[in-house]
Amino acid sequence: MLKNVRVRFAPSPTGGLHLGGVRTVLYNYLFAKQHQGKFIVRIEDTDQTRFVEGAEEYIFKTLKWCGLQPDESIMQGGPFEPYRQSERKSSYKKYAEELVAKGFAYYAFDTAEELDAMRSKNSTLDEPSKYDINTRYSKPLRNQFTLGDEETIRLIQEGIPYVIRVKMPDEPETITLTDLIRGDVKFFSTIVDDKVLLKADGMPTYHLAVVVDDYLMQITHAFRGEEWLPSAPVHIFLWDKLFGLENMPQWAHLPLILKPDGHGKLSKRDGDRLGFPVFAMDWFDPKTQETTQGFKEKGFLPQAFVNMLAMLGWNSGTEQEIFSLEELIEKFSLERVHKAGAKFDYEKAKWFNHEWIKKLDAQELLADVQKQLQDNNIEYKDDDQLKTIISLVKDRCIFLNDFVEQTIYFFQAPQEIDLTPIQPKWDEKKTNFFTELMNKWNQNFSKSATELEQEFKTLATVKEIKVGELMMPLRIMLVGGKFGPGVFDIANILGQHETIKRIEFLLKKLNS
Ligand code: GLU
Repeated sequence: MLKNVRVRFAPSPTGGLHLGGVRTVLYNYLFAKQHQGKFIVRIEDTDQTRFVEGAEEYIFKTLKWCGLQPDESIMQGGPFEPYRQSERKSSYKKYAEELVAKGFAYYAFDTAEELDAMRSKNSTLDEPSKYDINTRYSKPLRNQFTLGDEETIRLIQEGIPYVIRVKMPDEPETITLTDLIRGDVKFFSTIVDDKVLLKADGMPTYHLAVVVDDYLMQITHAFRGEEWLPSAPVHIFLWDKLFGLENMPQWAHLPLILKPDGHGKLSKRDGDRLGFPVFAMDWFDPKTQETTQGFKEKGFLPQAFVNMLAMLGWNSGTEQEIFSLEELIEKFSLERVHKAGAKFDYEKAKWFNHEWIKKLDAQELLADVQKQLQDNNIEYKDDDQLKTIISLVKDRCIFLNDFVEQTIYFFQAPQEIDLTPIQPKWDEKKTNFFTELMNKWNQNFSKSATELEQEFKTLATVKEIKVGELMMPLRIMLVGGKFGPGVFDIANILGQHETIKRIEFLLKKLNS
């Protein structure tokens, strides 16, 4: 076990949490818990233009639903407060200035209009002009190099707005990232431009803030999505110059979650197009005023959602696919995380949910089923009876919402009855049989499903009708369709009065 492990999930509150984001949380969480370390959530909101109302609350609600609670965050605080970067604004400037003093960053005064003009003037469609080694030393750019130190100091003293940019090396260098999943990944320093580190309003950009905060918060391992790989050379360069590479967290860039056909990263649009959720929970977008359905509201159990995510990019090396969170904490290893992207398979996601519904017992499912019934205004008798019903029908439910359809007939006589499977073959003999069955059950209604079945079969023999021809009619009488668990179990739960009432009702209908 590693000592003092500290990992972080560092979301920008810009919208709903995509399943890739939750998987990043999960792998961080599993690693932290496996090493009895700390899981930190840090809100990276330095780009205030991308801030979206409600996104922060949404992140914490999602983590709660998934059972992946942080040890330190804006919610419960911790030794490295504040955990929201906008509240740490004042702590970044000195690091940007330190880089300037060491010659690894510089002041630049170009206005947004000037930069736009430079881009459109010098760029071709293939290669937009960048602020980098090739452009930084010449006019019309206005920075510390083109203006000179004296002019730079004068402008700063006058209060002219400036940014601080990283000065990537003049001589091309190789920057090596040692990634826990990918091994050594080499980048030429020239592929990276001179990114802004500190903005004119004094707010850091993501690149500076992520490095400074990972350092200040003593992060030991940083796991994030593969889409951040191109930024890694900047971060490594900054670490090296500010804090020394020996203090840098160990990185792991997690494989992308791909569209079902494997072509490109899975997006919300793919979910809309193919009819499955991509966000963890319902996300209401304040800009479009639209709500996008999440896995939770679709009827997924958090255990299944988490289990499914764990397997999107990792496997245990055995045949086992169903894992509880505790088992995942024990078994998870970065060595078994794949480099290649993981194709999202909705049918497989449903399979996980079905397996988990089967795996949980009635008591564990009770609260969820109660909520489903309440949401649909279905009144039920008591919890014990409901648990019996849950046990009977749970294997038939893929989503939690399926419990409504699979249990409603226990509480309400079926509203719509599908007679097509029985009407064509209906005859007097059958009417006779059911009339006699009602009489029999009226006098005595046995206490167990087995006894009810026995009586039913005996009567069928007496009446010389094949049992097989009578079972479907009984089911349709009680349930309204060709579904549900054992029909005598259903009769047993419905009880004498209700069972007879339903038989009588349908007999009338069939004979009218
Ligand atoms: N703030 C980045 C994001 O929104 C985090 C990247 C990282 O973990 O370094 O995903």
